[in-house]
Parts: sequence; structure tokens; C-alpha cells
Amino acid sequence: MDKKVTLKLDHVSKSFAKVESDEVTHALDDVSVTMESGEFISLVGPSGCGKSTILRLVAGLITPTLGAVTVDGKEVDGPSPDRGVVFQKPTLFPWLTVEKNIGFSLEMQGKLKGNEDKVQRMIDVIGLQKFKDDYPGQLSGGMAQRVALVRTLINEPEILLLDEPLGALDAFTRMRMQDEILSIWREKKQLALMVTHDVDEAIYMGTRVLVMDANPGRIVADIKIDEPFPRDRSSDEFIKYRVDILNRLHFGGKHH
Ligand code: ADP
Ligand code: MG
Repeated sequence: MDKKVTLKLDHVSKSFAKVESDEVTHALDDVSVTMESGEFISLVGPSGCGKSTILRLVAGLITPTLGAVTVDGKEVDGPSPDRGVVFQKPTLFPWLTVEKNIGFSLEMQGKLKGNEDKVQRMIDVIGLQKFKDDYPGQLSGGMAQRVALVRTLINEPEILLLDEPLGALDAFTRMRMQDEILSIWREKKQLALMVTHDVDEAIYMGTRVLVMDANPGRIVADIKIDEPFPRDRSSDEFIKYRVDILNRLHFGGKHH
């Protein structure tokens, strides 16, 4: 990435009114954290601790109740192609082919003409040349997620937001996709922020793991994963990180 960016959550709180009563849910309580281009940040924590809320705030889909989300000091005030989001369920247009789905946002921005080769390169990256005229309904879950991923990457977002992007895939496809995402990120070195339920995935992919807790949602640990890529899932260091993070999530085996 030529341009380096700094993303900051500065004393961010987010509350939601509960549907069934007058009470509020403190989805996030006074969260402060700084992230930069070149980092791959994994976000782990129990269900409901505010992981998706953080991503939606950074994406500009919602605004904080208190505090500020800034990119290079400028407050986020809405969605932008500079902050690309990939969700767990690939949100493809069922009436468009693979090729048209991938080119869609360029076309919307009037930039498709002259960038057709870029679309083809993206199709190559995910190995779907043979499927480019197929519709989403004809693809496997893994293929559809690859399309969703490059459809976001084609905008070359400075910040890549991934909300459990591999959660719906089988274990083997998932491991292959982890490597694909990593190779794309290592080439561009944008800032990636990924939510995952899987502690091993968080360590395998992350340069940092943020561990969260719920009620109220907050960050309880910020752990730098000081290992070169590709990571070895069975190394002593890897296992030490796993034990440490599981303990912080209260899933430790010993001492309880
Ligand atoms: P996670 O992604 O970590 O599972 P979320 O960020 O989705 O958690 O949600 C955090 C908390 O905020 C949960 O208690 C959830 O029910 C609540 N919440 C999230 N979005 C809304 C919303 N739009 N309206 C009401 N409550 C919400
Ligand atoms: Mg979520």
C-alpha cells in the first residue's frame, strides 16, 4: 500500500435501545485502540461483545454514542470504498454473473471502461476463470466467498473489514482461504481488521489479536503475534498464544 493510514477508536461507546424494554445495551464501553496500515488485526470474543459493532462503526454504517472513530484524524461519517467490508454470508447479486459481480462497483463508479483487465486479474487470483459466466446460485460456498472478497478488494480499500468471512466454510476450504486472504494482504499491506470465532484462525492470520469481553463490550487484551509468516499451527509459540488467549476468554484448561 503506497498510502499509510491510521485508524483510531477514541473512547468509543455505543449503546442500543433494547427492543423489549426501556433499557439500553452497552454494546461497547469506552473502547480506545489505534491501528495502522500493514497490520492484520484479529478480533475475538464471546457472542454479543461488540465485534460486529466495531466493524460497522469503522465502516461508517453506524455512529458512536460517545467518542470518535477517525482515519488519519478525520472522523468517519459514512461508508466509503476506502473501507471495504466482507460479511460472513457473501452478499452477491444473484442476477449477475461472477464477472459482472466483480466488476459491479467499478461500473457503478463509471470506472469499468479501461479496467476490464483488472476484473480478469481478480478472477485469476481466485482461480475462477472457468466459472466467470456462472451465476452465484451455481457456486459453492467457498467460491461465492472468494467472489465476495475480490469484489471488495477491486476497490483497493485502505482498510479491509472482514466480519467472520470464513465462518460458513468447511474446515479445509477455510484453511485454503486463510492463505488466500493472507497472500492478498501481504502484497498490498493494507490495514485488515477481521472478526473471527476461531482462536487458531486469529493467531494464524493476525499480527495482533484483540480479545474482547461482553456486558459491557470492551477490549481486555491486545496481543502482538510476533511470528513470521507463514505461521506454523503446531509450533510451541503458536500453542503458547493459543493457551494465553483461551485463558483470557475463560476457556483455559488448567487453573480453573
Ligand atoms: P458480536 O458481533 O460480538 O457478536 P454485536 O456487535 O453484533 O456483537 O452486538 C453487540 C451487542 O449489541 C449485542 O448485545 C447485540 O444484541 C446489540 N446490538 C447490536 N446491534 C444492535 C441493534 N441494531 N439494535 C439493538 N441492539 C443491537
Ligand atoms: Mg458479529
